[in-house]
Amino acid sequence: MIKYIMVISMAFYCAVGYSQTGTNAKYVFLFIGDGMGVNQIYATEMYVDAKPGEIKVDRLLMTDFPVSSNMTTYSANTFVTGSAAAGTAMSTGFKTDNGILGKSPDKSIVYESISVKLKRAGFKVGILSSVMIDHATPASFYAHQDSRNMYYDISMELPTYDIDYFGGGGFHYRKGKNGDQPDSYENAIKYGYTIADSHDEFNKLKNGDEKVIAINPERYPLGEFYWVIDKREGALSLADFTQKGIEILDNDKGFFMMIEGGKIDWACHGNDGVTMIHEVLAFNDAIKEAYAFYLEHPDETLIIVTADHETGSMYTGINYAMHPELLQYQVISVQEFKRKMNDIKENNENNMVSFLQILDTIQSDFGLGNSAIGLGLDDNEKALLKRAYGNQFEGGNEVNPDADYLVSEEIKSIGETAAYILNKKAGIGWGSNDHSGMPVPVRVLGAGQEEFSRFFDNTDLPKKIQKVMGM
Ligand SMILES: [Zn+2]
Repeated sequence: MIKYIMVISMAFYCAVGYSQTGTNAKYVFLFIGDGMGVNQIYATEMYVDAKPGEIKVDRLLMTDFPVSSNMTTYSANTFVTGSAAAGTAMSTGFKTDNGILGKSPDKSIVYESISVKLKRAGFKVGILSSVMIDHATPASFYAHQDSRNMYYDISMELPTYDIDYFGGGGFHYRKGKNGDQPDSYENAIKYGYTIADSHDEFNKLKNGDEKVIAINPERYPLGEFYWVIDKREGALSLADFTQKGIEILDNDKGFFMMIEGGKIDWACHGNDGVTMIHEVLAFNDAIKEAYAFYLEHPDETLIIVTADHETGSMYTGINYAMHPELLQYQVISVQEFKRKMNDIKENNENNMVSFLQILDTIQSDFGLGNSAIGLGLDDNEKALLKRAYGNQFEGGNEVNPDADYLVSEEIKSIGETAAYILNKKAGIGWGSNDHSGMPVPVRVLGAGQEEFSRFFDNTDLPKKIQKVMGM
């Protein structure tokens, strides 16, 4: 008899999901910090409120979540994944080759995304990113294309799944790469979408609105947010888009929201540690919005924070030393500093800018050269900067601020050199400009959190989410 009851209760337990309370997660937030490994989080925690000589760490909200585990990242064809393959695994439960979006490695099978499954089951769905909404990670949650680079095709596919809310960055190419294709905005409108890309339109969005594409009015030409460190006045943040998502999607049946901090990865590709830290802090602010919602619905809300892979093989500590307090003196992203150098060069065509003038700018933007704050430059470091200055101002080398970052061994631009020197002095090192194969952190809070408590494969993530949502 006892045995019989146990079987019955086990069956009941499984049928209703996996949370301790026996209730399913109705509201699920999946935060993906693109490129955010353990060290990216940890460096941020060392940076917050860092003071000279003080050894302490200020934990971010996610670090105090009750479940803390790890997840694999490898793709079908390599130990070192790309964002499209990682996103496909996390969205569909299948591994694919790097570069492919929502399809099998031979591209013959289309894998269905968890967003589409949840939408069909009656949940509202939101997909958010601080980079273009047709970029690899957000696209993995709706699109199926042979290549992640088919941005225009992805943008045309975007409105075909009735997903309730897209928020954040814009489309790469509204009319295709050559500007001669049908407008993807108009295509979305044809499918019944409203596009809000001004502050007024954004502010008017409200609970119950359906089929919304909300785009940050302050963004780079290709559609990604400006760098957080560069502090654009009045720009909407990832937290604003998350808060708006909660407002729009909140309903009795529940919702699923994927929120990507996309530029953590971009800063890591450029080995720009301070810019990365500001992106992690903005990502953390978005998590706080979900946490405030969780506090109102603690039994029915689940927050998962993870990453698709680590970027930069970043490490904390060089020769047993870390001086995170030195990082506060960098006040500009390397990308904007490159632009600044280009402007100086352009405006002084016939009037050569001296290395000393540039050293002044480096000091005000990176602190470098100021020994009073512990950032004096030795002869080697000056020589590195001089070489970069020579390349950029005398050698006639063009520095494209939007181009891919250079590898540290062949540092060419002044901004990259300055960041490299500052990172090194602060104890932040980089193994590469690319992704690494390490597992990523998983931090979870809320209904069904136990499901995530042991090391798991990235393909298990959507299965676990579906399970805790009672599907
Ligand atoms: Zn990625």
